[in-house]
Amino acid sequence: MRPRPFVNRQRDRIDQTTGLPLLASALADLPKMIRENAAERQLGIISLAIVPDPQLLRQSTDAIHKLRILASRQILATVRPQDRVYTVNQEEWLIIQPNLISSAAPMLAMIRLRDSLMAISGQTGSISHLPRLALGAAIWPDHGDDALFLVQSARIARLLAAQGSPDIRTYQPSMESEGENEHGLLAELRQALSDNHGLALYLQPQVDIVSGRCIGAEALLRWQRSNGEWVAPPRILEAIDRLGERQTFNRWLLHQAPQIQKQLVEQGIDIVLSLNLSANDLLDVELPDMIGQALATWDLPPQKFLLEITETMMIEESWQVMDVLNRLRQLGLRLSIDDFGTGYAGMGYLQRLPVQEVKIDQVFVRQVVDSDKAREIIASVIQLASKLGMTIVAEGVETKETLDELQALGCRFAQGYLFSPALALPDFIIWCKANLTSGK
Ligand code: C2E
Ligand code: CA
Ligand code: CA
Repeated sequence: MRPRPFVNRQRDRIDQTTGLPLLASALADLPKMIRENAAERQLGIISLAIVPDPQLLRQSTDAIHKLRILASRQILATVRPQDRVYTVNQEEWLIIQPNLISSAAPMLAMIRLRDSLMAISGQTGSISHLPRLALGAAIWPDHGDDALFLVQSARIARLLAAQGSPDIRTYQPSMESEGENEHGLLAELRQALSDNHGLALYLQPQVDIVSGRCIGAEALLRWQRSNGEWVAPPRILEAIDRLGERQTFNRWLLHQAPQIQKQLVEQGIDIVLSLNLSANDLLDVELPDMIGQALATWDLPPQKFLLEITETMMIEESWQVMDVLNRLRQLGLRLSIDDFGTGYAGMGYLQRLPVQEVKIDQVFVRQVVDSDKAREIIASVIQLASKLGMTIVAEGVETKETLDELQALGCRFAQGYLFSPALALPDFIIWCKANLTSGK
């Protein structure tokens, strides 16, 4: 009888250079980690890769081994103790993060990993600098249930991050069909940003339910392509990030918003203008200064603006995020917590955040007439937020019944198609004049 080949399963799943488990282990561990994940928590799968450059490809095997060992150690030192790290191949690692409180967590973990790995550049012996890194993440359950599919999704996000900018991306199904059309969209958007033509901020009124007067407006990004297609704001913002033009966009926004306020004041319309910020903005330490300068240039008081930040961004207890939020507060700007109720922060968290307004998410508002649960959630948000002296705005109000129910629950302010969709500035001015305006 021929001897059966000796197979050491354990050994086959360990990378001999770094001592880390291999991809097969990740695929075996992931279903178990999903099963054991705490209720209401998410799980992140991060693919991290070195994007090779000519200098790296000229290195000896020994130098590459040293680099892989050093990078592996650094990754292990950066992730949380409960996270697991694997190697996929010479240039790629996989990190699984269980029990995450928000879908913003993998993005922040990727930023930390990139920064901490770039810090080892000087220690890599004959390799004088660490080449560019690319990181991509998939999230369970948002992007699927199957272990292989999730790992593939994280790697697809990382592949696209390696091909363009930014170098950190979270998986989106649309990534798999990014092709010619996307290429055209990026080129057109770059043009729109550079010649300041085509992009616009539309205004959606926010109304005092009791008096019926307009007390504020939310500025919402709009862009119509030359082929007539209106591109959804999240897609525009994602494309802006891919172009690496976030700062250009923020400069545009901070030029546009004060100009709009000036024109409203000239028309005798005294309202607060709400602007949306994205997760990356809160990691931009220069943002508060940029906003401060814009206010000074246009000679507008900070009370005229409110910054909307989504709940999932706020609950990340990153000191950088808190620092930016506190500096924005010091400037005198009011902060609003957007999409409240969709994250996992819980009510208690409200007290710890430096915010003055809560926007109840459309998901709950839409169900307030039919669902006891939605009504209960809205009632407790209103109760706590009022106790903390915060303003409460209900978003996505489409019917009179919804408005009546909200009013009965004690909600004072509302925004939604019942009053108006977002309008171009001239139309908004006409709407305001027809609806008698007043200050917040
Ligand atoms: P958001 O901040 O939650 O904005 C509210 C969204 O709900 C807007 O979608 C608005 O048009 C829509 N909406 C308002 N009332 C109703 C209603 O009664 N029914 C329904 N079904 N929808 C309503 P929009 O303009 O497509 O924006 C989508 C998201 O894109 C925004 O969600 C925000 O997260 C982001 N966004 C838009 N403009 C900007 C911007 O200038 N900067 C940043 N960072 N994000 C932006
Ligand atoms: Ca908003
Ligand atoms: Ca919202």
